[in-house]
Amino acid sequence: SMAGTGRRSIGGKGAGRAAAPMTQTAGTFLPIRELSPYTNGRWKIKARVVAKGEIRKFSNARGEGQLFKVDLKDKSGEIAGTFFGRAVDIFYPMLQQGQVYCFTRGSIKAGNPRWDRSEHVITFEEHSTIEAAENDEGIPGQTFDFRPLCELEQMATNTLVDVKAVLFSVQEPYTFTARTSGKEMTKRELGLWDASGGDGGRTSELVLWGDKALGRFEVGSVVFLKDARVNEWNGSKTLASPMNIEMNPDAPEAFQLRARFEEQQRIRPIVGAARGGGGGQRKSIEEIKAEDVNLGVAVPGQAFEQGGPRMANRHFAVATVTSVPADRLPCYPSCPESVDAKPRLGAEATQQPEKRQCAKKCMQEGDGVWRCAMGHVCQQPQYRYICRMQVMDHTDSTEINMFDEVGKKLFGCEASEYAQAFEGDGVEHINKNVLWRRISMRMRSTKEVWQENERVKLNVEEAGDVDFRKEAKQMLAEVHASLGVAGS
Ligand SMILES: [Zn+2]
Repeated sequence: SMAGTGRRSIGGKGAGRAAAPMTQTAGTFLPIRELSPYTNGRWKIKARVVAKGEIRKFSNARGEGQLFKVDLKDKSGEIAGTFFGRAVDIFYPMLQQGQVYCFTRGSIKAGNPRWDRSEHVITFEEHSTIEAAENDEGIPGQTFDFRPLCELEQMATNTLVDVKAVLFSVQEPYTFTARTSGKEMTKRELGLWDASGGDGGRTSELVLWGDKALGRFEVGSVVFLKDARVNEWNGSKTLASPMNIEMNPDAPEAFQLRARFEEQQRIRPIVGAARGGGGGQRKSIEEIKAEDVNLGVAVPGQAFEQGGPRMANRHFAVATVTSVPADRLPCYPSCPESVDAKPRLGAEATQQPEKRQCAKKCMQEGDGVWRCAMGHVCQQPQYRYICRMQVMDHTDSTEINMFDEVGKKLFGCEASEYAQAFEGDGVEHINKNVLWRRISMRMRSTKEVWQENERVKLNVEEAGDVDFRKEAKQMLAEVHASLGVAGS
């Protein structure tokens, strides 16, 4: 039995060498600072897991894979560790953040400055050996190198930063199916505020994915983020996927920040979605139009200008549909051919190209076949929704564009059924599902030049019935914020 030895094996059966007890004394541990790809022999380190990331699934040419990352720290320094494949199943449930372990049998390589903050990283396989050690007060815990939000815009994309901030907005997590991979994803957007930069402080958006998105977050909470990734979204910097989130830390600087936030809420409440936000907070059509006035016009092939105008806005609104197309189809015959999707930004070169539908418009040819602009030929095109509608709320009205997914949801049937009814008995009974209906919409707006005039295009990315419970909670949060009360 291992009881009473002061160390606990966490490997278990079938876990490589994890079950083998270590007998070395502390003196034989190599300081993390001395680890390098040239480290010879069987090194051992004793380190604290100061941060532990979530499991990420990926797919490449060899199939499906998984990984998770940790930050390891001892008196001499810090190093990132990555677990792949079976090692994830073995070690993810066992490694606890804040605990001290002895590690050996990992391979050390140079870190990728694009992804790693440490100079070297350790890759752990299923045959790595990790065992719990008694807490060692000499090994420091997590330390932060906080950067103010006002510096965010100057940081390079993919930089990992530590941030301390107050949550001024908390959206509900939402789950959707990724268009390219067909996988279910859970996403959540939080609004961060800190007192930096003067003039009431700065805000930024924090995006969380997967399990981390399901945590318990409340407006007014102080968060310490470890290794949050700087992302760029339409020319604006946002933060995503921190390695670790400390909620309401028991630290003087957290209390100070919270006090500054409450003071700020009394003077000028911070309400609404963060800059660079995902359109979480509901806006009126009037507010949307006012915000979109400042959009820049995207020029194809031209890079975003640092600190220039935003190229797109996200909005969330509730409005009533006041007109649907009556004299023409709200859909078109599309090409069903499968083609390679454009590789996503940041996708690894080893990944197989994703597939998507060609979806170009088909024209019927004399011989009964259909042909798209790419030259694909098919017997039966697939109808897809694409239409414009008018919507109105208590402030204004506007035109919106919607595409197949949203169309199916609102009309309540496939576009092919609509096309059939259009040729046959008429579409009044289908249009009734949409006309005069009050809907909630997530939209993306962009500005384009059309016949020498600038115009704003509002594309609906998600639509559905109004969630009164969520709506009420949001409005209550706004009331609280305007009263200077932090609460959710
Ligand atoms: Zn085609």
